[in-house]
Amino acid sequence: MSSASGVQLDSRVTEFVARPRTMFINGQWVHAASGKTFDTYNPATGEVLAQVAEGDAEDINRAVAAARAAFDTGPWRTMTASERGRLIWKLGDLIEEHVAEFAELETLDNGKPLTISRAADVPLAAELFRYMAGWATKLEGSTIPLSVPYTPGAIYHAYTVREPVGVVGQIIPWNFPLLMAAWKLGPALAAGCTIVLKPAEQTPLSALRLGELIDEAGFPPGVVNVVTGFGETAGAALAAHPDVDKVAFTGSTEVGRLIVHAAAGNLKKVTLELGGKSPNVVFADSDVDRAIAGAASAIFFNHGQCCCAGSRLFVERSIFDRVVEGVSDAASKIKVGPGLDPSTDMGPLVSEEQLNRVCGFIDSGMSDGARAVVGGKRVGDKGYFVEPTVLVDTSDDMKVIQEEIFGPVVAAIPFEDPSQLVARANDSVYGLAAGIWTQDVAKAHAVAAQLRAGTVWINCYNIFDAALPFGGYKQSGWGREMGKEALENYTETKAVCARVS
Ligand code: ADP
Repeated sequence: MSSASGVQLDSRVTEFVARPRTMFINGQWVHAASGKTFDTYNPATGEVLAQVAEGDAEDINRAVAAARAAFDTGPWRTMTASERGRLIWKLGDLIEEHVAEFAELETLDNGKPLTISRAADVPLAAELFRYMAGWATKLEGSTIPLSVPYTPGAIYHAYTVREPVGVVGQIIPWNFPLLMAAWKLGPALAAGCTIVLKPAEQTPLSALRLGELIDEAGFPPGVVNVVTGFGETAGAALAAHPDVDKVAFTGSTEVGRLIVHAAAGNLKKVTLELGGKSPNVVFADSDVDRAIAGAASAIFFNHGQCCCAGSRLFVERSIFDRVVEGVSDAASKIKVGPGLDPSTDMGPLVSEEQLNRVCGFIDSGMSDGARAVVGGKRVGDKGYFVEPTVLVDTSDDMKVIQEEIFGPVVAAIPFEDPSQLVARANDSVYGLAAGIWTQDVAKAHAVAAQLRAGTVWINCYNIFDAALPFGGYKQSGWGREMGKEALENYTETKAVCARVS
């Protein structure tokens, strides 16, 4: 099959997309208990792409039972940490072997340019598994000297061990489908947990293909289960399930709140990676050309569908016009088109719902008095394309400044007084990320120290590494993804105290 843009697709991809869709439960490929399927859409055309099994509460029950059995009695539990690490490493290698295939799947499903899926999403996912593979053998406790006052003369040997938290429910979004699966699965597997993964209903294909590779790598049945379905049914059932020990969620802040409520029943552990409205601050003493390129990429990368997108661009007044002109110029040169077309810089938004949402935000900004220097409209009438948009003349209380748009829309905001900048940059319910552009090293670190954000990029933006923790302050989330901190989400500390004399 060739795609709408005439690109010849890998035959394994066309075969995979056309196959009647099943889910991965207990090492088997099974239909939804209800027998139902749902359609997913190619965002570049708006046409049906694939039929996917519509899992719901019953399928979640089956998957949780499989994960519980694998955790309590399966070979996974007795495997050495080194064997576990080798399986995780192998999964990374298998992803790399299939990079072209995964990139095409990701682009068909999500819409992002194939060049980006190939260069970023898939290699980063492979690398994440390799990084986490190394942690399997390094989850150590400590020995602790005790000084118990009420047992004079007694000697204790006390130590801690880090044990896997148990059965984990993982609910992921559609903006980086494979990479989000990797961020979640990698540390959970390294810690020795078993998992039920629910991909987003818009983009389930790469997680299903990953399930096949998990099987091929040799993970025992039930260690990873992939249940496809909708958030309100399958996702809600997973978050509320009484036999799930922990739920890890990435998505909207609104759904994050629902997850917290759902988790309250059995007080399962919760980690959340939620929304953002990240300030990207350009000082007059920056390398302005670099800052302009960085500011454009901070918002337009992945079509602005990044929780850390630099959507509030604060620019020191003396260079405001130059930066707005530069970012607008960059925006107008972005070639918007189908992700499979090699000349495309920016693909469609993921769904009609997102298209309407993003256009609704742009309209609200305009009716509040903002002005689009460039962009502001939908592109064409087929597929979910929207123009890269630069807004000016906003005020800090407008909806486009306060709320997450999750699209290629940046508001450029001038500031006069660097001393007031930090308060304005922090004036958000979110605290996920921030950017600073300046050549003054002392200023850069002083401002970084004052920003209430989980990540601060200085003279760069959107730099991700498996070793670098990522997550939010305030309503941007609980806990951290990646880095050694991610392992903490998936382990319990057990203190063992033995009286030895
Ligand atoms: P978006 O609004 O950007 O689509 P969501 O937060 O709705 O993001 O979705 C992220 C993930 O959360 C998806 O896998 C979705 O199916 C899931 N989800 C949505 N609603 C719920 C819910 N009520 N309970 C659990 N998961 C949900």
